[in-house]
Amino acid sequence: MAKIAVLPGDGIGVEIVEQALRVLRALDLPLEMQTALVGGAAYEAHGHPLPDSTLALAKAADAVLFGAVGDFDFDHLERHLRPEQAILGLRKHLGLFANFRPALCYEQLMHASSLKPELVAGLDILIIRELTGDIYFGQPRGRRTAVDGHFPGAEEAFDTMRYSRPEIERIAHVAFQAARKRNRKVTSVDKANVLETFQFWKDVVTEVHAQYPDVELEHMYVDNAAMQLVRAPKKFDVVVTGNMFGDILSDEAAMLTGSIGMLPSASLDAHNKGLYEPSHGSAPDIAGQDLANPLATILSAAMMLRFTLQQAEAADRIERSVRAVLSAGLRTADIWSEGTTKVGTRAMGDAVVAAITGKTITKS
Ligand code: NAD
Repeated sequence: MAKIAVLPGDGIGVEIVEQALRVLRALDLPLEMQTALVGGAAYEAHGHPLPDSTLALAKAADAVLFGAVGDFDFDHLERHLRPEQAILGLRKHLGLFANFRPALCYEQLMHASSLKPELVAGLDILIIRELTGDIYFGQPRGRRTAVDGHFPGAEEAFDTMRYSRPEIERIAHVAFQAARKRNRKVTSVDKANVLETFQFWKDVVTEVHAQYPDVELEHMYVDNAAMQLVRAPKKFDVVVTGNMFGDILSDEAAMLTGSIGMLPSASLDAHNKGLYEPSHGSAPDIAGQDLANPLATILSAAMMLRFTLQQAEAADRIERSVRAVLSAGLRTADIWSEGTTKVGTRAMGDAVVAAITGKTITKS
């Protein structure tokens, strides 16, 4: 029986994970699901956003289903106690170095995008972001008094951008292998014209590419990639990049599809164990109001079935059901448009469950 650690977290995390669990239960698969606190909820109960018991549960599980963490109420805490540290800690302790963020524009939601429908219709790109290196983790970092630079003697802050060869090699392999299952094109995004770290990135990706002659490789500077994503997004297939550029570009790609509430993500280790979560945060502005779109989390559960649990058929059933619900015209507020039916978080969950179990989808 596969073990799933369920970590709903804060804000809308609780509501959307509940709907994903209902969908998983409706599939009637042999899954053992155990829930634990994480983020601000864990800090309030145990004084730490990632308590040892939660980390142990996540380590022992085959996969982690994660909601979201964070609330502006915790912004006054020291950095290591803030809810968002939980997700960084899980990535680090579980060795989750490859973040998959598909950006798929559902035909039914084409008009929710801020771009012209013809630019996004049929969009299907995959952003692969390196997740455990780069300037987010590089040491040293901190604050000090400047000894040189433009203002010697002034207070300054600094971070360290770094990537080692094995870190770049393994994410490049992940990208080329993913491209083989898609349209065989990888765009490696860097800033090699300015940064030493990303000249090295470009060199190593080019070397790894020699093992994948059947996959096309292009290199693109990050500023151009940001532009091309809104100019001609369908030209991309797989995009691979570092932690910081990937953080920004994957949010940009999310908006091409209309709503961040639709986008799942997977963060995988070297053995396909993964943490699955929606691409959005805990949305404190709408938490507890039955307004959140649960589909990104439901689709994250589908990714979990596909990538870690090898249950492709069950994953297909979830994805087909989500399409059916959209085709029936049901929309949460974030993706609602004239002529469709507005529903809340729970009703959206009901509709997906109904589609999975073969019941008629109702619009109430
Ligand atoms: P956010 O993604 O939570 O929200 C941004 C906007 O999108 C808000 O207007 C929100 O209402 C809306 N939104 C997000 N998800 C939605 C959904 N499922 N359905 C409908 N609307 C949705 O980002 P933020 O407001 O910048 O951050 C809020 C908190 O979340 C912060 O504490 C931040 O640190 C945290 N955060 C956590 C994660 C994570 O847990 N992985 C990721 C990003 C942000």
